[in-house]
Amino acid sequence: MTLEAELGEAIGPVQVLTDPSVTASYETDWTRHFSGQARCVVRPGDARDVGSVLRLCGRHGVAVVTQGGNTGLVGGGVPDGGEVVLSTSRLSDIGPVDVAAGQVTVGAGVTLTALQEVVRPLGLDFGVDFAARDSATIGGLVSTNAGGERVLRYGTMRQQVVGLEAVLADGSVLSRLEALPKENTGYDLVGLLAGSEGTLAVITAVRVRLWPLLTHRTVALLALDSTSAALQALAELKPRLGALEAAELFLADGLALVREHTGLPAPMAGEHAAYLLVECADRVDRGDEMLEALEEVSGLVPGLADIVMGADERGRRGLWRYREAHTESINATGVPVKLDVAVPHSHLERALEELPGVVTQVAPGARTIIFGHLNEGNLHVNVLGATDHHGVSEAVLRYVASLHGSISAEHGIGRAKTQWLALSRSEPEIAAMRSIKAALDPGLLLNPGVIFPHG
Ligand SMILES: Cc1cc2nc3c(=O)[nH]c(=O)nc-3n(C[C@H](O)[C@H](O)[C@H](O)COP(=O)(O)OP(=O)(O)OC[C@H]3O[C@@H](n4cnc5c(N)ncnc54)[C@H](O)[C@@H]3O)c2cc1C
Repeated sequence: MTLEAELGEAIGPVQVLTDPSVTASYETDWTRHFSGQARCVVRPGDARDVGSVLRLCGRHGVAVVTQGGNTGLVGGGVPDGGEVVLSTSRLSDIGPVDVAAGQVTVGAGVTLTALQEVVRPLGLDFGVDFAARDSATIGGLVSTNAGGERVLRYGTMRQQVVGLEAVLADGSVLSRLEALPKENTGYDLVGLLAGSEGTLAVITAVRVRLWPLLTHRTVALLALDSTSAALQALAELKPRLGALEAAELFLADGLALVREHTGLPAPMAGEHAAYLLVECADRVDRGDEMLEALEEVSGLVPGLADIVMGADERGRRGLWRYREAHTESINATGVPVKLDVAVPHSHLERALEELPGVVTQVAPGARTIIFGHLNEGNLHVNVLGATDHHGVSEAVLRYVASLHGSISAEHGIGRAKTQWLALSRSEPEIAAMRSIKAALDPGLLLNPGVIFPHG
């Protein structure tokens, strides 16, 4: 019997997709940079189905690529050629919300938006949020240890996970969905799977932590005449704003591209080198506190040229749109080299100044758009119009490593950065990671070529 027929018997023939016009959307990633043909796409309905898929694929010697919302930006969720794509789209149950504990168990295929829509009416919220919320799944967020716009306050995805259920390469199920906030019995397998990018197990359900819903949000967009002024403004604002939740940076050329793509009007008069978007959130209105802090900071940061505040929810969303539309606007303009890096605060000003030059040395005439999560030193470096994508990645990642930064702040290594892993991880660390991979997935069934190069 063929693998497809056996898979059909195990999980139902309609859940095994082979028609190329249907499988095509699973075969190319969001950036259009990575694509490969899938042997077929399977849509298991629970952990038992996932176990059957993995056992059968293992027996046939066919690798499996797990795919959630396919919004990952490093090519980890699409096939390289010939793998079975395991879609988590049917793992979409949302369990009862435990309001007292502030926890809920959700299927790995539940999107961020779907989770927000269930918990917010109950006065609770989820700690991670970002622009891909309508498609990105909780399983994908855990697997990439996603960051986003609220790390400043709540940390990354790893900090939101209380427990999870996952299926190992041999089809066995690990279930750590108990809601104990304190539990110290042996290795932290849950923490290990967070950020493992589908290389160690298929996550099928996640018990997540919830936070009180903060009903009053105040946003301000600051225009600055330099990136160093943006850094100075954030340094002055942080101790003044106890309810600060987000601090996002974008620059003049990024704003111009967003306006070109979206048709949005200018957020304020004049053109400015840098823009800092800050948001405070609380259960009471912090508008006055924000105004007072901004007034004080205006007197302390000479490069602070202008400020606009979002007067109401519409105004707030309007200001966020300038920041959140960056990724889609860049993608609509061309296929960029997308590099997600972090540098220590002490080197941030220098990196912001020098990165465009680092790019033009290898790609003269290319357009470098930088934006990111300023508080974490996390810069998204997007290069448009470069022909030598490899050369650009090499130059930027080596430069970041020379500043003791990270070659991946939040998107992961995927297939995009495997050859540069050693810039951020030592030899003993890579050897330890390879030992873990070999122990849990000796047949290299799960996401081969992700994190580590093939072989
Ligand atoms: C507009 C836009 C904005 C973004 N902003 C941010 C941001 O601010 N911060 C950030 O961190 N990321 C951001 N991203 C990247 C992306 O949304 C995240 O990496 C997200 O976590 C991926 O979720 P997904 O469900 O789409 O996963 P996919 O893209 O489907 O997969 C990503 C990786 O996780 C693995 N995987 C997925 N589900 C599972 C599972 N259930 N079990 C095991 N492995 C699995 C895949 O194999 C792959 O390696 C953005 C993307 C876009 C398009």
